[in-house]
Amino acid sequence: MGQTSVMRKPLTPAREFISPSDLTFGLSTCSRCLWIKYWFKVTMPGAFPLVGTLADLQEKHFRGASMTDIDSSLKEGTVTKWGEWVKSTPLIVNGESTRWRILGKYDLVAHNTDGTLALIDCKVSDSTRDSAQFYAPQLEAYAHSLESPATGKPAHVASMGLLVWNPEEGFSDGERHGFLAGQKYLPVERDHTQFAKVIENLITVLEGELPESGPTCATCNYLIERARLDVL
Ligand code: SF4
Repeated sequence: MGQTSVMRKPLTPAREFISPSDLTFGLSTCSRCLWIKYWFKVTMPGAFPLVGTLADLQEKHFRGASMTDIDSSLKEGTVTKWGEWVKSTPLIVNGESTRWRILGKYDLVAHNTDGTLALIDCKVSDSTRDSAQFYAPQLEAYAHSLESPATGKPAHVASMGLLVWNPEEGFSDGERHGFLAGQKYLPVERDHTQFAKVIENLITVLEGELPESGPTCATCNYLIERARLDVL
């Protein structure tokens, strides 16, 4: 599409806290909407019915769970925290401290018996996109915030992973009804170098001028068609 526009930046961004999910979804299409979100706090509305409800139900199921019951490859430990906000110290790019930090709410954290932590992100999904690699920057952002917290003691995150429930069939006992899901745990390898690259890329974009829109985003194509019709 290659639209070019000039937009005056305010003196400071409207928000300086980076959402971990923006490191996956935000950067996977084009960064123009992200730039607008951080400088003007104008966010494209999402339409994800049921996603939050299903994730909450799944997360509740694992409160207090044993990690080795979740997956035999995991260290011994117990899920002790859920749905807590984490905020990092300012992010460093090329050795320089920036104004940007991570702020996000993780799903599950376990305390391992050896004193380390394990981080788990819950998903209810049948999407083939739910690969460990796709979500790696998001999980790394939570791990980074736990290891470099704005307040409190730094922890060591020994493992990260996705816990995916894939709905497979309907279920009913006459009174209660639902879906039966297959469960898989997908380990996500720690990769500090890749995370540093993603952060540098995002911060460079945010500190620059308004980026051009991506060529394939259905939302921008829709908006352009609307503008052609000259209707709001
Ligand atoms: S292509 Fe348009 S709608 Fe899509 S992310 Fe970029 S600016 Fe936003």
